[in-house]
Amino acid sequence: EGNYHSVPWYPTPLGGTSPAWRESYQKAKGMVERMSLIEKVGVTTGTGWEMGLCVGNTEAAASVGFPSLCLQDGPLGLRFADNITAFPAGITTGATWNRALMRARGSSLGREARAKGVNVLLGPSIGAMGLMPAGGRNWESFGSDPVLQAVAAAETIQGIQHIGVMATAKHFVLNEQEHFRQPNEGSAYAVSSNIDDRALHEVFVWPFAESIRADVASVMCAYQRVNSSYSCENSKLLNGILKDELGFQGFVQSDWLAQRSGVQSALSGLDMSMPGDGLGWADGKALWGPQMTAAALNTSVPMDRLNDMVTRIVASWFHFRQDLWEGGPNFSSWTNETMGRLHPGSPDDDSWEAVNHFVNARKSPGSKLHSDVARQVAAEGTVLLKNVNSTLPLSRKVSSPNGKYRIGIYGEDAGPGNGPNACADRGCNQGTLASGWGSGAVDFPYLVSPWEALKFAWPADKVEVKDYLTNNVAYENLLEQDLCIVFVNSDGGEGFIHSDDINGDRNDLFLQRNGTELVDGVARHCGGGRGRTVVVVHSVGPVVLEPWIDLPGVHAVLYANLPGQESGHALVDVLFGDVDASGRLPYTIGRSLEDYGPGAQILYETDDRAPQMDLSQGLYMDYRYFDRHNITPRYEFGYGLSYTTFEFADLRINPLQEKSRLPHSRVDSDIDPPSYPRRRERAEDCLFPKDLKVLSKYIYPYLRDTSGTEKGEYPYPDGYDTKQKPSEAGGGLGGNPSLWEAMLELSVKVTNTGKRAGKEVVQIYVSFPDEVVEHRGISWTREKIDFPVRVLRNFEKVTLEAGESTVVNMTLSRKDLSYWSVRAQNWVLPTDGAFKIWAGRSSRDLPLVADY
Ligand code: BGC
Ligand code: BGC
Repeated sequence: EGNYHSVPWYPTPLGGTSPAWRESYQKAKGMVERMSLIEKVGVTTGTGWEMGLCVGNTEAAASVGFPSLCLQDGPLGLRFADNITAFPAGITTGATWNRALMRARGSSLGREARAKGVNVLLGPSIGAMGLMPAGGRNWESFGSDPVLQAVAAAETIQGIQHIGVMATAKHFVLNEQEHFRQPNEGSAYAVSSNIDDRALHEVFVWPFAESIRADVASVMCAYQRVNSSYSCENSKLLNGILKDELGFQGFVQSDWLAQRSGVQSALSGLDMSMPGDGLGWADGKALWGPQMTAAALNTSVPMDRLNDMVTRIVASWFHFRQDLWEGGPNFSSWTNETMGRLHPGSPDDDSWEAVNHFVNARKSPGSKLHSDVARQVAAEGTVLLKNVNSTLPLSRKVSSPNGKYRIGIYGEDAGPGNGPNACADRGCNQGTLASGWGSGAVDFPYLVSPWEALKFAWPADKVEVKDYLTNNVAYENLLEQDLCIVFVNSDGGEGFIHSDDINGDRNDLFLQRNGTELVDGVARHCGGGRGRTVVVVHSVGPVVLEPWIDLPGVHAVLYANLPGQESGHALVDVLFGDVDASGRLPYTIGRSLEDYGPGAQILYETDDRAPQMDLSQGLYMDYRYFDRHNITPRYEFGYGLSYTTFEFADLRINPLQEKSRLPHSRVDSDIDPPSYPRRRERAEDCLFPKDLKVLSKYIYPYLRDTSGTEKGEYPYPDGYDTKQKPSEAGGGLGGNPSLWEAMLELSVKVTNTGKRAGKEVVQIYVSFPDEVVEHRGISWTREKIDFPVRVLRNFEKVTLEAGESTVVNMTLSRKDLSYWSVRAQNWVLPTDGAFKIWAGRSSRDLPLVADY
């Protein structure tokens, strides 16, 4: 329903065509050809919600030695697990702009998953992309720009997979808001995120392409519809874009209950049904499982398609050498006790075993404590927005003429509250905010609150530090202070949790829990108007700062994002300048929610039984929108102060080859994907084995009887039998390898002109030529192509001593300098007119520019 429709793309391209995956597919073929039909189906279908130790569990193919796979959330650590690390969220990681730290966090995540026996980690998240600043799940991903998301995703994936754990790029694609993400929330259909081909490619698919290029094992399709077709049965997205154009060799898994059909999703390119239940949690009815067994027998799902699903999953397992693993998961998602049931979702499961082995995953031999990595990311992900008269960094050696120096710490957000795990999946805003809520959160092993870290930070004989961990501070508790540090926040998360009147997506961009009034009161009355106030914000996304940011009492503002378990330590590191303030905003902080544009607003209410959203503003997301409409933000994307100053000079551009309009023609490898001889399958072999103790609600691949298994004539969707023309943009992992040829190299000289060591992020933006014209058809109608004013294309963080200079070298690829031509269905690099290449410290502070 709606104006947009998604074009059909069939059949699913077979996995096993990439040279890098050749050996894995050969091994997979050797295993899959020995599996029974029942075993094949078992590998593709989850066993049902709470029917195993992990949030997702597949059936083992015992006869060939393929184990049950454990799939576990999530993007910032292991959900529902003990002895793990609560890392800073994706948004904090994005704010570091530090590739090495992104990688280190990824490899710590991978090590923890490995130690707990997790085969597939359900992260990183790169969708939501962050088009809507109030979107409930933006904090799980890395920031509102495709290149920032892509770099962080690739580093995270390589970190995780280097340890042998499979990573998952999610949610594919356009899951930008939580309202109406699923049907039955007052609508018959999930919301349809409607998008044009160009914004889809240039913004939303971009980080998925880089994830595939980084060799990601799995992609999770999203809950909502895209152009009126559910993401997990959208053949254009899964068959066309993911598996043909981007050459994806791994497997597509559904988000939990995002699958809406059996045969249709199989034909459209879904490879794994999660958690295995069909349309309701733990309802015991599957869309695949026995239905897939029958469909394969009656040929409504071609056996080739089932074989490809299984081969993709098994090849991924070999690709990351999980054939060398011993033992399965050693923790249970469903209990914290030692003993528990193996299948708690089934009322008649009477298993009782040691399910939690409390393996300490928080450090690995020869590697750093993961808490050190968490602390570093949290510190470098803290953004200094305002710093009048160098209020920060604070000194530990303060003194006051009239006795002790007095410091007040204000706000609920400074303190421990009722502990970090007071609400399931962190689904409430109390105490200090260190994570958003939902499946992307973890049980904190501990949380160092700011107050706990600050109370001992100054020498007690000279300084008095007092806590007022409330958002209603009495006037007299402010008057005597020399320094006031006030903590405020804004929380949100996944749509299945409702808290403080927030249904996942935030209702507005204001501070919550009376935060605006709290800052206002503290800033006006600290020291009777003479004190200095430092504001610390913890938030899932941008907050409107207008009511108080210009108050004279507000001397400094630190935007600490969502810091994870090391919150207080990391904050102390930055407050005192032990670590430079080197975070940069991963999104724009506007003056109002409206400033982000009409296309960036959540659809909170609708009477439409099939709600529609137009996301074509995506091409002009965040800073691109502000730039296009000349809207002055409060703080722009990429902005952040340091404790020192940097000068940029000598931008040099060196073209490495002639400009040419198109990449090289697609070249496919000559590797044949595995093919399997036709085998006669008998429905009788697929019946429940007589001796099996059957658990109710558990999803088995077996049939109760042979009805519906007779081979029939099934009409496949339009286009199924005509081989599609492969996309010219394809030919390798992530797309045509020619797209990553370096077109130019550039260098910038950066000098630390201040008095202390510090870190700067060198940001490179590109403006496309003014006049790009495409000719349409034989009538030669000229059509002007419109571009964002500037787009981020590369960045590098450098560390410099006081007075030190360095020359930063970077390249830009063909893809960086191309737009997606809907007409050519390819990436096109404009050869007429000049690009402008900008270098600087934010999307609006770009002192250097050169023509190319
Ligand atoms: C979320 C996914 C998550 C899955 C499993 C879903 O509700 O959207 O991100 O991986 O649950 O917990
Ligand atoms: C510790 C201090 C330390 C500070 C910063 C606090 O939790 O108690 O000793 O200086 O963290 O790391």
